[in-house]
Amino acid sequence: MDLLHAPRLQPFGPRSQREALLERLRPEFYGLDTEYELADGRRARRIYLDSAASNLRLKVADAIVHRALAHYANTHSQLHFGARIMTALYHQAHRIVLDFVGADDAYTAVFHGNGVTGCINRMARVLAHKRPERDVVITTLMEHHANDLPHRKHAGKVVHVPLEHDPDGEAGRVDLEALAEAIEAHADRLNYVAITCASNVTGIINPVHEIARMAHAAGALVLVDAAQSAAHLPLSVVAEDPAENLDVLVMSGHKIYAPGSPGVIVARKDLFLGLEPEEIGGGVVTFVDARRYTITDRLPDREETGTPNIPGALALAATLYLMGRIGMDVIEADERQLTQYALDRFEAIPGLHLYGSHRLEVADRIGVITFNIEGLPHGFVTAVLNDYFGIAVRNECFCAQPFVRQLLGIADEHGVAPDACMTRVHDATEKPGMVRVSFGLYNTRADVDAAAEALRHIAGHAEDYAPHYVPVPDGSGDFRHVSFRFRPHDAFDLEREVDAWLRDNLV
Ligand code: PMP
Repeated sequence: MDLLHAPRLQPFGPRSQREALLERLRPEFYGLDTEYELADGRRARRIYLDSAASNLRLKVADAIVHRALAHYANTHSQLHFGARIMTALYHQAHRIVLDFVGADDAYTAVFHGNGVTGCINRMARVLAHKRPERDVVITTLMEHHANDLPHRKHAGKVVHVPLEHDPDGEAGRVDLEALAEAIEAHADRLNYVAITCASNVTGIINPVHEIARMAHAAGALVLVDAAQSAAHLPLSVVAEDPAENLDVLVMSGHKIYAPGSPGVIVARKDLFLGLEPEEIGGGVVTFVDARRYTITDRLPDREETGTPNIPGALALAATLYLMGRIGMDVIEADERQLTQYALDRFEAIPGLHLYGSHRLEVADRIGVITFNIEGLPHGFVTAVLNDYFGIAVRNECFCAQPFVRQLLGIADEHGVAPDACMTRVHDATEKPGMVRVSFGLYNTRADVDAAAEALRHIAGHAEDYAPHYVPVPDGSGDFRHVSFRFRPHDAFDLEREVDAWLRDNLV
């Protein structure tokens, strides 16, 4: 992507060598060999196609963190060896994050919460306090709720900008003309533009640096939700033209092959300074008596009170470093081929409708593909894929209700749904939603083939499966098999695991 500038980590050798390393990395994730018993009694290796929700954990990073744990100590301890090692590693983790997104000294990286939701809530509060005279936020109609509702809660007014449509009428990127108009209309009060780098519904990529330039020209900031894109695209917060620099970028460790890791905020340091940190306690103060306290200006310390999730941060940093050294250019090119292959295969399935523009020349996208099969509820298709084919995908609205409703033709051009939608308890056969297939580094053409063949089969033989399913009567849109019972605790049970250890260690 020419617009998404290369990050700072040095590539580990020539491209061909890095491509070979990527092949070596592909099987190095937990959960690729996991087998389950299916509804027809077969045991099958699961095919994980739900990476947009969370991707699988990288074994390499895990092994590195396990070795680091030999030195584990709290980073707030100071002088013993373990504390010094952990503190140095934790600093290194921040530096790697900054390098991964090409940040210079004007930026800080703050590990926060569990993912992007916490990070955006935090920044919505910070930016509202920082610039109270600017109480308008512009976002788009393609956002995850996490990049919409926190702004609604903390800003005076939120404006939702519509999307472009391709020649087939399918939704693409944010409409830059409409965005320019919204920015102009609110220029004097606009605090920031909050935009996703890639949609979790269509996978479509927005030109975030161009949007930054438009926002900056009006004295506004830009906050980029990189939850979906961070593991799949090269993205730098610093652009060739400083007017295109990103002010805030947020990522989720669990979507970067490091579930169990925190979210990360990469932001311009000056946005935090001059405000009391959102959370205070240990580790952020220089002086405390019973009446007063003073907060350090040191970043990121002042924004990370309390003991951090050190193993999680180290796992994420090791993963980012590995991906950065292999090269996000190599990773992006690899995934682009798989995505194109999948789009071609899915498009050829009779009755399957893909959402969002799938003309890559009009709307570039990452490996997130949503669709419905004519006449079949998304909950039914998803359940059959799991129960009979061992294929894990996600359905419903993906925490992006305004966008999904609009794509389904239920919400109007402003993203507003009819009043009845607010209170209506849907029957599962008509609950709005879609099926989503999404890729990670471990996915191959064989996975796509398996999904395409399963979907073709379901589309052509729905009547064979339908008698085995009933809607779950809880308004969720889910379907349940009438006789096949999968019991999660048969597959794994914490007490059983611990009891097994106790038994094995009886003396
Ligand atoms: N934004 C986007 C685009 C997402 O896809 C998600 C996760 N589905 C989020 C925000 C929220 O991230 P998290 O669940 O890590 O808080």
